[in-house]
Amino acid sequence: MSAGEAILPGKTIGVLGGGQLGRMLAQAATRLGYRVHVYEPQANCPAGAVAHQEVNAPYEDTAALTAFAKECDVVTYEFENVPAPPLKAIEAVTLLRPHWSVLETTQNRSREKRWLRDNGFPHAKFAEGTDIAAGIREVGVPCVVKTADFGYDGKGQFKVMTDADIPAAVKKFAGQPVVIEQFIDFACEVSAVVARSPGAAVRVFPIAENIHTNHILDFSIVPARVAPAVIAAAEKLARLIAEKINLVGVMGVELFVTKTGEVLVNELAPRTHNSGHWTLDACMTSQFEQQVRAICGLPLGAVTLLSPVVMVNILGDAWKNGEPKWDALLAQPNVRLHLYGKAGARPGRKMGHFTVTARDADMALEFAEKYKARLAG
Ligand code: AMP
Repeated sequence: MSAGEAILPGKTIGVLGGGQLGRMLAQAATRLGYRVHVYEPQANCPAGAVAHQEVNAPYEDTAALTAFAKECDVVTYEFENVPAPPLKAIEAVTLLRPHWSVLETTQNRSREKRWLRDNGFPHAKFAEGTDIAAGIREVGVPCVVKTADFGYDGKGQFKVMTDADIPAAVKKFAGQPVVIEQFIDFACEVSAVVARSPGAAVRVFPIAENIHTNHILDFSIVPARVAPAVIAAAEKLARLIAEKINLVGVMGVELFVTKTGEVLVNELAPRTHNSGHWTLDACMTSQFEQQVRAICGLPLGAVTLLSPVVMVNILGDAWKNGEPKWDALLAQPNVRLHLYGKAGARPGRKMGHFTVTARDADMALEFAEKYKARLAG
């Protein structure tokens, strides 16, 4: 298959990773008439439940990966912590989109930060390596120490707010490769989901404003309640990053907005993003359908916002008093509920999300906070 040819409905999309992003991708793909195969180490995964085929094998099993890829017209990944080296084998048998090098760059914080720096994208000052104390001296306090590999949702992060925190940081990360970032006292966080097709068409979804609690996304608010110049800067950065990294697929771009209105890139994710889930209910095209369109070389869909909306993550914590009160939530006329079919409701685990639409973003947020507070009973 040449890069210019569209992969039409009826063909098979392979997804590496079987979590909720893979599940919602599979749902969008099957609606368009594609077949979906999921590759995931753990059996009974959320994506496998809605796919045509589920293969359970380790990511390091090159023979299993190759056999899986041979059945697929295109393979994509739903999270960036799929180890990159074994994936090289896939490129020998079928299309891997986004390209292997995009995954390799973005799954390691050091490489990602260097890429941003070398390509002139604005980011927080940083140091990298295994000498934690030297890195902290170079960046200055306050700063945030992050493991270079396999970090997301604040996992493997430590804030150094004063000099007194330095020994604990050194102890926690002793010998590990880390990135040390200047602590940004941001005004707010926003994100962009950008799609780019093999033919280099680019679409950026409306910018979301994100509120995190304990490092995990809590609310995404659209439209973001920021100045038009901030929206324009965020959209431009997302577009330029997609072009520069030669993206084919979808990418989440997390951004900090400083108190002076500067927009800095925090993190890139070469896949759909939690802060784009609202697109399922309040946008002409969802980010998952856009991912299908982009990796299959179809025309990208319109990214028109249909209504102001707030997305709320439902974490395992909502089960603290037993089964959440779904009936109260579902009784609301402006709510749509998405559950990922996961069995174990552990605190901090993403179990589902709901969206709330309203006349404006403030009102949607007010409803969302109220509904969320009632969910756990
Ligand atoms: P990350 O896993 O890098 O996306 O970090 C998760 C969350 O931690 C971010 O969304 C921010 O809320 C916070 N955070 C991460 N890095 C910084 C930083 N350099 N300055 C301030 N807050 C940060």
